[in-house]
Amino acid sequence: MSWQRTADAVVIGGGMMGMATAYYLAKLGMKDVVLLEKNTVASGATGRCAAAFRSTWGGELNIILGKACIDKYEHLSEELGMDIGLYQNGYLFIAYSDEQLENFRKCIKLQNSLGVPSRMLSHDEAKELCPGINLNGTKGFYWHKRDGHADPMLTNFAHQEAAKREGVVIHKFTDVTGFKMTEGAVKGVCTDKGDIDTNIVINAAGAWSGRVAALAGLSIPVHGERHEIFATEPVEFGVCPTFVMSYDPDFYMQQRPHGSIIAGCGPSRYRKEAAPFNDYEMGHSWNFLEHMTGIMNKVLPRTKGIRVVRQWSGMYDITPDMQPVIGEAEEMKGFWMNVSGSRGFMFGPVAGEMVAEQIILGKTSLPIEKFHWSRYARGEFLVDTAIA
Ligand SMILES: Cc1cc2nc3c(=O)[nH]c(=O)nc-3n(C[C@H](O)[C@H](O)[C@H](O)COP(=O)(O)OP(=O)(O)OC[C@H]3O[C@@H](n4cnc5c(N)ncnc54)[C@H](O)[C@@H]3O)c2cc1C
Repeated sequence: MSWQRTADAVVIGGGMMGMATAYYLAKLGMKDVVLLEKNTVASGATGRCAAAFRSTWGGELNIILGKACIDKYEHLSEELGMDIGLYQNGYLFIAYSDEQLENFRKCIKLQNSLGVPSRMLSHDEAKELCPGINLNGTKGFYWHKRDGHADPMLTNFAHQEAAKREGVVIHKFTDVTGFKMTEGAVKGVCTDKGDIDTNIVINAAGAWSGRVAALAGLSIPVHGERHEIFATEPVEFGVCPTFVMSYDPDFYMQQRPHGSIIAGCGPSRYRKEAAPFNDYEMGHSWNFLEHMTGIMNKVLPRTKGIRVVRQWSGMYDITPDMQPVIGEAEEMKGFWMNVSGSRGFMFGPVAGEMVAEQIILGKTSLPIEKFHWSRYARGEFLVDTAIA
C-alpha cells in the first residue's frame, strides 16, 4: 500500500478501540483517515480477551455506556456487514459472602433505575441457567439476560473491513516512534516507515498508550498488566451456557457455543510475587493454570478431567481508577486518547463512535467527558463497585 504524507486524522492501534474509532471517523464523513498498527490487527489485548460485554456495572456512567454497548452489539453484524459471533445468554454473578450479596442488591437497584432489568436469582433458577454449577458455599446470584459475548477476532476484523470500505487506509507492521509538534499542538506522526502530517492523532494503543503519549511528552497514567486465560477442549454444551463471574474469589468462566470453556482471573490471585509495574511480558504460567483449573473444577465439578488445550495472556490497559481515559490533551491540541480502562472489547464500538462524534461534531450523544484524565490531577477517581 502506498504511503501518503498527509492525513485528516491518524489513529494509532489496530485493536477494538482504534479500529472502531477509525471506522466511525470515516463513517461520519472524515475523508482521509489512516490507522497505524505496529503488529497485526487484533494482536494486542483485543485478540486475547474473553470478549464479553455487559451493562451490569456498579457506577451510573458505566451502566449507561454498558447499555449503549449492548444496543450496539445487538446490531453490529448488520451494521458492519459481517458475522461477529454474537452470543447472548447473560452474565451470572455469584456471591460467596453476605457482603457481596449486599453489593449485588445495590448494583441491581442502580441498574434497574437506569433501565437495565437485572435481577436476583434463586439457587434453582441459577442451576437451571447454568446446569453445571456447584451451589455449595454460594450465598446468592444475579443475572442480566442481554449481557453476552462475541468473537473478538471476527468483531475486530468486521470493523477493519467496514473501515476499509469507508476509505480508511490501514498500515500494519508500522511502529509509531514519535510525533511532530509545534508549541501546544500535534502536527504529525513519525513511524519506522515514514512520517504523516496531520492535525489530529487518536492514541488507541491500549496498554501501550501511556508509552505512546510519552513520545509526545505527555504523562498520561496508562500501563499494562498481564492477565492470563485458558480454553479447554470442547465438552457437551450446557455446562455453563451463561457467562459466570465472581469478585471474590475472582474468576470468570464462559462456555463458547462450540463447547470449549474459557476461564480467567486477575494476576494477584496466582502470582507469587507482585507483578512489576509496566510488565509487558506476554508469557503464561503454571501458577495460573493450577490455580484456575482448581477454581473451575470447584465451580463446575463436571469439568474435572477435561483438558486445557490452550493458555495465553494479554495486556490489560490499566488506569488509576480502572476507568476509561478519553479526550483531547489540554496541553497538546489535536492529540486524543481513547483508552478503555480494561473493557475495550465491549466498550470499543461505543467509545470509537463517541470520540469520532466529539472530533467531528464537537459534541457526543453519550456523556463521556467525565472520562478525561484531568480528573486525576483534581484527585477525582470514578468509583464502580462492579469491578473485580
Ligand atoms: C485475558 C483478558 C481477558 C479480557 N476480557 C475482556 C472481556 O471479556 N471484555 C472486555 O471488554 N475486555 C476484556 N479484556 C480487556 C480488553 O481486551 C482490552 O481492554 C481491549 O482489547 C483494549 O483494546 P485496545 O484497542 O485499546 O487495545 P489493544 O487491543 O491492545 O490494541 C492496541 C494496539 O496498539 C498497538 N500499538 C502499541 N504501540 C504502538 C505503536 N507505537 N505504534 C503502532 N501501534 C502500536 C498494539 O500492537 C495493539 O495492537 C480482556 C483482556 C485480557 C488480557
